[in-house]
This record gives sequence, C-alpha cells and structure tokens, in this order.
Amino acid sequence: MEGPRSDEILVRMVASGICHTDISMIDTPDRTPLPIVLGHEGAGIVEEVGEAVIDLEPGDPVVLSYGYCGACSHCVQGSPYHCDNMHRLNFGGSRLDGTSPISQKGEAVHGMFFTQSSFATHAVAPARSAVKAPRDISLDLAAPLGCGVQTGAGTVLNIFQAPVGSSIAVFGSGSVGLSAIMAAKVAGCREIIAVDIFENRLELARELGATHGINPQRENPVDRIRDITGGGVDFAFDNTGNAKVIQDAFASLKMRGHCGLAAGFGVELKLNAFEILLGKKITGVIEGESIPRLFIPQMIELYRQGRFPFDRLITAYDFEDINGAIRASKKGDVVKPVLMF
Ligand SMILES: [Zn+2]
Ligand SMILES: [Zn+2]
Repeated sequence: MEGPRSDEILVRMVASGICHTDISMIDTPDRTPLPIVLGHEGAGIVEEVGEAVIDLEPGDPVVLSYGYCGACSHCVQGSPYHCDNMHRLNFGGSRLDGTSPISQKGEAVHGMFFTQSSFATHAVAPARSAVKAPRDISLDLAAPLGCGVQTGAGTVLNIFQAPVGSSIAVFGSGSVGLSAIMAAKVAGCREIIAVDIFENRLELARELGATHGINPQRENPVDRIRDITGGGVDFAFDNTGNAKVIQDAFASLKMRGHCGLAAGFGVELKLNAFEILLGKKITGVIEGESIPRLFIPQMIELYRQGRFPFDRLITAYDFEDINGAIRASKKGDVVKPVLMF
C-alpha cells in the first residue's frame, strides 16, 4: 500500500462495520469495479499524516465517513452529502484522478471505497473524511456511526427535523431503521411506528423507542398507520429500497407529510402525482444529510446521556470471520456486524 498523499492520512484499522451497501456491491458485480477492497464504516488509529494535514496527528483515534470533494458548489455551500463527485468518490474504487493506494503484486487493486476501503488492516483516506473520536468511546462502537447509524439518525434529526409530538413510520428495522427510531424518541415524536416482517426486529424496535410495531404480513400497514395516527404520519422513512414498501410509506403520509428514501437503486415507483400536488413530499436521504464532523460527536453525546443506545445494534466478529458476518447479516440474525482487527 502507498503512503498518504499530502491531504491524506494512513489509518490502522481497529474496527469496521459492515453496511448493506457493502453487501449490495458484492451482489451486483456488474456495477462494481473489480477487484476491490470494500468496507466503509472504518474506525482506527492514525499512523501517518500528509504534510498538508493540520488537524490530525499520529495516535489520534478516528472514525472514517463518506468522501466529498470539498470544492464543488454543494460542498462549499455546506452540503457535502450532495457533492457533485459523490458517486465517483464513494463508488468509483479510486481517487478522483483514477489512482488507488492499494496494489497486489504490482497490479493496482480498486480501493478508496467511500474514500476508505476499511475491510483491510490499513486504510489511506482523505483527512476531511475522518472524525476525531473521543477517547472514552471504543472504536468498535464508534465505527458504524460513519454510515448506517448517521443515515438513520440524520434522516430524523437533520432532514425531517421532526418536531416534538410529531408522528413517524419507519419501514425496515435494520441498523438504519432502528437508528431512526432511536432518534425519533430523542426528538420527542409521539407515534413512532416500526414496520418489519420480522417479529424479533419489531420487538427490538419497541425496546429502542417504537410505540407501535406493524408486521405487513399480518395487517395492511397503510390502514393500520392511518388508524393509529388518525389519518397519516408526518414522516415516513423507507430503508428497504423495495418499490411496494416505498409506495406504502408514501401512502401512509398525511397531507404535507415527508417521505425519505435511504435505498432504491434502479427501483421504479408508481406514485399518485395528485398527492404530491396536494403537498406530500418524497426525497432521498443520502447519509442522513449528516456532516460527519458535526453529527458524529452529537450522536456520541446522546449515547453518553443514555438517550441513543446504538450499542444495542452491534455484534462483534473477528475480521477473519467476515464471510460469516455477512451471512448472518443477510439472514437477519444480526443487525450491525462489526469486524474487529
Ligand atoms: Zn463536492
Ligand atoms: Zn453504508
């Protein structure tokens, strides 16, 4: 592996979460540059910094998050999650100039997945993607804050900015959905409705703050949500990426309600334009519109206060057992596998 360039750091990985996006890259090799090192919820210790890095030094514990260019109009306006180079930087398998710091026997290997490729003992990453972690939080706990947890919590707190007493339905109770449910409780939502086909996930959702659980294999979620809320929810959040579920999420909104989507690559939707005309809204929720250096410390503070127990989502695995961890995640046996190096 190459050393860091002037604006980069070399991180010795301590822990990395496995996110659904890693698994979907494995499952869709036609849209994945190969060979590649995946992984994008890395946390570790800085070992080296490039000469232009002024805010990190060797020995610092860091959580790595998504990449953004820092130079496009969206980045300079403070919306790095909508960076013009988002797709190339995070999914391209290289730096913007096409190079990768990783090679094997002289042959280049795609790296820089989400500007980190954290399924490796070491990662070269841009300093701007790293968030210094407080030393009282273990890195195995902090790792998933960089993608899945901030996507769920950020949707509620940054995008919806759910007011006290509002209502929300969360479709899909994986790590993203459960993080949204915990954040909805933090926000003071009155009705927090979890929708999932797995009873054990609904049970966990209730323990983490859901006031209601709906299993769509047993009852119609849209009818039930309208019953519970007297007409529809203020906010609906889909993190399944399934067209039927997204359509249900949209249908469960009351007028002026906002539906957020965290997944849906290549999915075609059938929506009633008249409902949009009447004020319903549907938007994507990239990374929960989180600015990692601001939002990750906020989530850690909520955790310290006992109000955001995201440790309940995590199951630790040895890095060597990465395939077992992915299998367990796909089967729904674990919510958030975290690999330990
Ligand atoms: Zn940008
Ligand atoms: Zn992710």
